[in-house]
Amino acid sequence: MRTSAYADLADIHVIGIPRALLQYRYGVLWQTFFEALGKTVVISDETDKAIVDNGIARSVDETCLASKIFMGHVVNLIGRCDAVFVPCYASCDMHRGFCTKFQSMTDLVRNTFRTELRVISLLVENVSDIKATQAAFVELGQRLGASRKESKHAFKEALRAQKEVDGQQAQRQEDVLKLMDEYRGIVAKDPARAEQAPLSILVVAHPYIAFDQYMAGDIIRSLTQLECMPLFACETDHAKSYKASLDFSSTMPWIISRELIGSILMLKDRIDGIILISAFPCGPDSMTDDAIMRCIQGVPILNLMIDAQTGTAGIQTRLESFIDILQFQRRGGYIRAER
Ligand code: SF4
Repeated sequence: MRTSAYADLADIHVIGIPRALLQYRYGVLWQTFFEALGKTVVISDETDKAIVDNGIARSVDETCLASKIFMGHVVNLIGRCDAVFVPCYASCDMHRGFCTKFQSMTDLVRNTFRTELRVISLLVENVSDIKATQAAFVELGQRLGASRKESKHAFKEALRAQKEVDGQQAQRQEDVLKLMDEYRGIVAKDPARAEQAPLSILVVAHPYIAFDQYMAGDIIRSLTQLECMPLFACETDHAKSYKASLDFSSTMPWIISRELIGSILMLKDRIDGIILISAFPCGPDSMTDDAIMRCIQGVPILNLMIDAQTGTAGIQTRLESFIDILQFQRRGGYIRAER
């Protein structure tokens, strides 16, 4: 591999990536990019109590649980890599932005871990501007010792891999929905109604909450044990769900919140219930959850908040009651019971 003139990071061979926040959205892109440059990538472990406690110890009280957990994942990578990758994602475009945590995390980590580990980063000003995003990655690739051509090639390969995974997720969701539609059709034709289709529950949460073992792991496992089919709003086709969200609000700034709301609008007639899961005290969710609860009609919603002190304790009972109510309602519900 030819060494570039800017290769001040060429001595970094093993790159750590915290399994938190935007890693759940762009992790495939990041990992593929670094591996295509010949680097070894270490992803931090699944979130557990130790990671949460370490994250809380390195964070100020006021930050959300998701960013505290991010800090715990950085701790988890100390001694396991030459540098940790903490990119700065500022916005999506002129009208759509990310939560400010994604922008500030590089500085937070650098200031918190000062001498404990090296941090490599890049600035993505506008993620929908592929040329500018590519330029940021190419510059980082060159600093890591790759040539411009090699870095460009690595980015293209990474982008293709991320698009492929996103497409597969959206397709998998559509396949499950079709299967559930067919199942309901068959059950509806059965006059005895001996068999019922599983309840389809749309889990509406940022991907780093929905797929995090500590935050939503127990909830998803319980849904499966209660014979429900969990679907994830964050897996709906991003472009389509963003477009659908314009019917809900023309001014909401947060892109991921928009996609989650768009997913609800697209799927609400094909699901039996919605579970909102937020990390305390999330600024964007405090506004959007309230708007969803008030404005989405015709489908029952359970709103769950996970905080650092209690975790998911006490949530099980609420979850079981919610599913009980949905099942009771499907068997004819309160209207039938009154007859
Ligand atoms: S969107 Fe909410 S949960 Fe996510 S990083 Fe921002 S404040 Fe935290």
